[in-house]
Amino acid sequence: MKTLVLPLLLANAVCQASLCESGQRQSPVNITPESVSTQKLPAMSVDYQAAPLKLANDGHTLRVRFDKSGQLVLGKERFSLQQFHFHTPGGDQIQGETFPFAAHILHKNAFGQLLAIVVPFRLGAENPLLAKLLPLIPAKVDGNHLHPKLRVSAKELLPAALGYYRYSGSLTDAPCTEGVQWLVMKQPLELSSAQLGQWQNHFKNNMRGINPLHGRKVFESS
Ligand SMILES: [Zn+2]
Repeated sequence: MKTLVLPLLLANAVCQASLCESGQRQSPVNITPESVSTQKLPAMSVDYQAAPLKLANDGHTLRVRFDKSGQLVLGKERFSLQQFHFHTPGGDQIQGETFPFAAHILHKNAFGQLLAIVVPFRLGAENPLLAKLLPLIPAKVDGNHLHPKLRVSAKELLPAALGYYRYSGSLTDAPCTEGVQWLVMKQPLELSSAQLGQWQNHFKNNMRGINPLHGRKVFESS
């Protein structure tokens, strides 16, 4: 039995590593004017509800988890809200602009397909949601922390204008699984440099570099 299982595990690990290195539909990307197609996209509509704060330090990032606390509607498609978390640097670039920080809001539809919203952040004013969350980052990696009196909505992470870019990409960590839909918000939010410093006291850089589009089109909403 052992002799059979070990080669299978090794084969699986090699396969995962090679997708991160040689996949053709990887994230993050640089959204350039030449890659953008003006195909009509459905308007984004969100129904995110405030829920008691449940967060975890997973060793790489701060994750805020939701359980049946909202959904995203894109035309006829519906995706339920799962969690959001943060990255530095921000990952996806818009016309070569790099962002020091980004939020990823993850969703899943009834068929298990993943959809992630990227909210890029520039340095500027203090962000009110981060002002609530940063002091609560658990000092060590130890599962979920519930703050029943503090209610948080993923709506607090969305810019006022809901225009977006859409492309087909991948998970940004191993196994770099492809087939993830990415919606990159066109309007960045801001966080202060003190807030970025506060984040960096807890977490190292947790975003991989830019990947080639390999002929993928990026679609832009109005
Ligand atoms: Zn992420």
